[in-house]
Amino acid sequence: MTFATLGLIEPLLRSLETLGYQTPTPVQAQAIPAVLAGRDLMAAAQTGTGKTAGFALPLLQLLAMEGPKVTANSVRALILVPTRELAEQVHEAVRQYAENLPLRTYAVYGGVSINPQMMKLRSGVDLLVATPGRLLDLFRQNALKFNQLQTLVLDEADRMLDLGFSEELANIYKALPKKRQTLLFSATFSDDIRLLAGQMLNDPLSIEVSPRNVAANTVKQWIVTVDKKRKPELFVHLMRKGKWKQVLVFAKTRNGVDALVEKLQGLGINADGIHGDKPQATRQRALDRFKLSEVQILVATDVAARGLDIEDLPLVVNFDLPIVAEDYIHRIGRTGRAGSTGEAISLVCADEVNLLSAIEMLTRQTLKRQNEPDFEPEHRVPDTDASGQVVKKPKKPKKPKASGGGGKRNLGKWVDSGEAAPAEPSIKPVRKVPVFNTGPRKRKP
Ligand code: AMP
Repeated sequence: MTFATLGLIEPLLRSLETLGYQTPTPVQAQAIPAVLAGRDLMAAAQTGTGKTAGFALPLLQLLAMEGPKVTANSVRALILVPTRELAEQVHEAVRQYAENLPLRTYAVYGGVSINPQMMKLRSGVDLLVATPGRLLDLFRQNALKFNQLQTLVLDEADRMLDLGFSEELANIYKALPKKRQTLLFSATFSDDIRLLAGQMLNDPLSIEVSPRNVAANTVKQWIVTVDKKRKPELFVHLMRKGKWKQVLVFAKTRNGVDALVEKLQGLGINADGIHGDKPQATRQRALDRFKLSEVQILVATDVAARGLDIEDLPLVVNFDLPIVAEDYIHRIGRTGRAGSTGEAISLVCADEVNLLSAIEMLTRQTLKRQNEPDFEPEHRVPDTDASGQVVKKPKKPKKPKASGGGGKRNLGKWVDSGEAAPAEPSIKPVRKVPVFNTGPRKRKP
């Protein structure tokens, strides 16, 4: 199969030739004809499988071949993405694909001055990539109109549909024409989000090019158990032992990112960090320098978990496990992309056993443990398996005490021996709550 047999026009074929794309990936093979035929889509494809081109190529073709010329402050196709970096990346791909077409494309996102964006929108844009907050700002300031909008794409759709963006998305939806084509693309779709997404689409075609919620099998994954306070030390040890050259590291919080970067820089290691508190220009510069291998270790919150394409990234380290199990798949999907191989190592402490269990259940695998001599934890991480159970080692029965009284001491309180033992906390997978249209905005990572 070739891109030409999928029905793409010559100017797009020329761009693809320049980029060296020879054969459509499976998601492209299915999505391109469907989008060209005007269908709504719900596409689940692993990250790194070429989904951007899967929606961008046919979209550009429809914009070039059909519909009216764009008018002032209007937009004809809108791609919504959850992070600023992703907006830049998706727009860069779109720009390359549209090289030989007379179309105007642009990206808008927060953290940078709004005025140049307003100026640019004055003459209208055929295809706009945007983060939801800045898009709404521009709309409310009358810099944007949606009367010409024909297609909406939600990239990383499950993230876009979860609680954090629900209010903004609901407001955007109110402003969009009801009659339009809608495309949802994501590597993961939880059942709840799938249900919700189904309600937003018109007779959608469902595309699933790989089993749901599974990371690319080109990524070798394992965990190292360790006490929480020794994680930085273990990271440096593994880095030196493995002679790591380029590593993307995920930490749970912004403070966690800053602390690890500071520690690494203090040891003379070439590290930088990105998170939501940093100015956009600083974030983008750190990412660009990392992509160019000018920075060896990039530490990030989940702001970098989604969709970012870092060519030939060999290794992802989860310094902390993600709170939301699906984010594990997105994080490790930064490596092993476009057919290359990669590794993902997670440093896991006893506190994180429930998160580990949720990840194993979601990905239907038991992650291999590889313990590091001298770093065995004092607080053992209980065994887990893909059934979502934390496997407790049977305790040795205690010898009955000689003294009577019918009771035993339990955490300083007397418990009658006839009383039921307190239940173990139940192990529930951490899932996103699909609430649409309600609730305050969750802070971005
Ligand atoms: P994506 O999943 O959209 O982030 O794409 C992952 C990477 O694969 C990007 O670097 C793309 O440029 C590249 N890519 C996408 N489609 C193809 C293709 N058909 N042939 C070769 N490379 C591709």
